[in-house]
Formats: sequence, C-alpha cells, structure tokens
Amino acid sequence: MPKRPPVARTLPALHRALDKLRSRKAQVAIVPTMGALHDGHLTLVRTAQRRGLKVVVSIFVNPAQFAPSEDFASYPRTMDADLDKLATLGANLVWAPTVDVMYPEGFASRIALDGPAVADLEDRFRPHFFGGVATVVGKLFNQCRPDAAMFGEKDYQQLKVVSRMAQDLDMRLKVIGVPTVREKDGLALSSRNVYLSQDERRVAPVLHRTMKDVAAKLRAGAELEPVLADGRAVIAEAGFAIDYFEARHAETLAPIASIKDGPVRLLVAAKIGRTRLIDNIKA
Ligand code: AMP
Repeated sequence: MPKRPPVARTLPALHRALDKLRSRKAQVAIVPTMGALHDGHLTLVRTAQRRGLKVVVSIFVNPAQFAPSEDFASYPRTMDADLDKLATLGANLVWAPTVDVMYPEGFASRIALDGPAVADLEDRFRPHFFGGVATVVGKLFNQCRPDAAMFGEKDYQQLKVVSRMAQDLDMRLKVIGVPTVREKDGLALSSRNVYLSQDERRVAPVLHRTMKDVAAKLRAGAELEPVLADGRAVIAEAGFAIDYFEARHAETLAPIASIKDGPVRLLVAAKIGRTRLIDNIKA
C-alpha cells in the first residue's frame, strides 16, 4: 500500500508541513475539495502534478456554503478512503481543518461578490453559496499561499467566480480550470451521485445527452430559444425538475441572444428525487 500523505489539522501543523514542502523550492498547487473523492477530484491532482507542482488537497465540508435546508449534515464523509486514493497518486499534503479551526469563535467576515457570482444561475437557487465558497477559498489561499489552484469545470460558475476573485483581489496565484470527468454514459462525476437510486442513476445521463444535442443543433444554425425549450422539455419528460437550462457567454456568463454572441456555454441544474445535479458543456 502506498504511503498516505500527511494530514494537517491545525494552522501551525499546516505551516510546518508547507515550509517543509517548499524547502526544496517546490511550486505548490492547492486542490480545494469537500472530500468524498472521486476520479474528478483525482484528475485535478494529476493535472497539477503533470505541471510539475506539489499538491496540497484540502478536505473541508464548508458549512458557510450550505443553506439550512441543504445536505451539510448528510454530505458524504469518507476520509479514510480519500487518504488511500491520495496515497496512490502521491499527493504531498492534506489540509483537513475542523469547522472551529476554519471559523473560530468571533469569525465575522465574508467576501462580497459581483459579476459571475450574480449571473442568475446557481445564485438564484443558492443565494448563500458563492459568498460561502469565496470566503473559504480566500481563506484556503491565504492559509496555503499556493502558486496555483485547481478547479473543475464541472462547477463552471464557481470556476468563473474564483478566477474573478483571485484577479480582482490580487491573489498571487494561477487559477487553473480542469475539464469535467464523466462516467462512460456521460454523467458528470459528483460526490452527490451516491444519493441517486438505481432508477435515477439510469435517467441521470439525459442532462449531458440533451446538452450535447442542443449544442449540435446550435452549431448547425438552429435558433437559441426554441432549441433550449425543446431541451428543457426532454429533461423534464425524463423526470427532472429543472432549476435552469440556459446558454450563456462562456466568460462573463451574461445572457446571449444568439450563438454569434459567444463563445457559448450551456449550463443546467435540475433535481431528480432529492438529488440536485449540475452540469455544463461548451456549445
Ligand atoms: P467538491 O468536492 O464537489 O467541492 O469539488 C471539489 C473540486 O473538484 C471542484 O473544483 C470541482 O469543480 C471539482 N470536480 C468535482 N467533480 C468533478 C468532475 N466530475 N470533473 C472535474 N472536476 C470535478
């Protein structure tokens, strides 16, 4: 069994471990995660390693980005299995603070966001989400001072929000986006896929399939709104309750009237049973 990476659970332990990593002039990437690691997360680690970076994986289920109605308490927590997976990759360090370490008594600050964070996509359905994400990601960047940070395109709006924040707040690191890792049938890997029943799992790839169909029709010259409306009907027919299925400008996430206003990204969020799935592709 390959050796598990060391796990820092306090700030002094983190800083000692980072000093050791950097003592050989290594460049460091952070891979922020909430654990329950799957091949999507592992691909972020591998991408950083291919760029010659040492890798710190943070594992922290961040209460600040969950609404009271959401799944903070039941979110899958699989630390042992996560460490075994990271051992096989040779990740260098795991940063796994407790909630008290991240948000000590008296904590009272939050990063305020504009631009891609108020695009009327995820933010419409999860109004606390990006404030919570930006605050914890800002803290992770300050705690670890990485040279780079890896984020998945799977959470496309989040990738844009974090990139914007890093640029706007002069954070000295490179935010690197990594393409979405999918199951063979197209379903994007997600820690929340474990919530799907067998029937729901069978239906779930309709999201990716429909986005691909819509993208192909748009490239062939079809008009935007009718094609999106057809796509929404297919997804709803399959049993999903749709939060949104939209075409947006791939960089600003602003609404677009036609594919000519692109580059275009298709983005979807929809619930099946009690599970909310999100996905996106380039159009
Ligand atoms: P999470 O643990 O769900 O907060 O995700 C941590 C990081 O992994 C985020 O940057 C996600 O975008 C990324 N990620 C999650 N699923 C995938 C996937 N299927 N492919 C690529 N990256 C992913």
